[in-house]
Amino acid sequence: MDGALAVMMVVIVAHSGAVPTGSPSQEDLSKAQAYLSQFFSDVGVSAPNTVRRSALDSFDDTLRKMQEYFGLEVTGQLDSNTMEVMARPRCGFTDVTRYSHFDGEPKWEKPVVTYRITNYTPDLSQREVDATIAKALKIYSDVIPLDFNQIYRGTADIMILFKAQDHGDFAPFDGKGGILAHAFSPGEGRGGDAHFDEDEEWTLSSEGFNLFLVAAHEFGHALGLAHSNVETALMYPSYTYVDTDGYVLPDDDRRGVQAVYGESSTEFLHEAL
Ligand SMILES: [Zn+2]
Ligand SMILES: [Zn+2]
Repeated sequence: MDGALAVMMVVIVAHSGAVPTGSPSQEDLSKAQAYLSQFFSDVGVSAPNTVRRSALDSFDDTLRKMQEYFGLEVTGQLDSNTMEVMARPRCGFTDVTRYSHFDGEPKWEKPVVTYRITNYTPDLSQREVDATIAKALKIYSDVIPLDFNQIYRGTADIMILFKAQDHGDFAPFDGKGGILAHAFSPGEGRGGDAHFDEDEEWTLSSEGFNLFLVAAHEFGHALGLAHSNVETALMYPSYTYVDTDGYVLPDDDRRGVQAVYGESSTEFLHEAL
């Protein structure tokens, strides 16, 4: 707590006299620093308007990276368009990939992946949640040679839960809005798990947040996909409602997941016919 306070005071001193009216508030700058640290840096981002500390990424450079990613004007300034994008409800997964192609993309090395829902949301009936989760996984099993099997006890590859705030993985949720959900890349332990923020209102419609759309996005991570900056992609980091009736995986995501797992033979048949 003392450390954080000290940093704030340094920033205020560095700022005084040099701030044109209409520039972002100290609160906006702190929020932006947290956003950039969470989504655009592996090591954290230095406070705005401070001399760069060697261990951290610089605020201005990381802000430019974020603006480029979202197709904003690359100003290196925390302008209103940038703040608007940062305020959008979104996934908690990083926007920079942590693994390189040399490490190989994480993937499931078996034909059947199990999943289990350990905590249901009270916003929907259990039957609705089960059906929605199955539908969200099916858009992948329709295009890649992988099947999903729900189990009701023991440890599944993909453990699914709805919890608010701190839920035991050092990535606490943040209340209503902001971060909606997050998931882990394929692997042992937490690998493949998908967590949904219970402080959100989960629906099957355009109200609140549509569980199918958010779950389908999170399962992309659970299968090894990173975020895409293609705005129409399912793996775009922020939430946009689209009609879920007859939903098929958008091209960008289909190409991404098929690059990892190959094409399913049934889809191959459809194309041949
Ligand atoms: Zn995501
Ligand atoms: Zn979590």
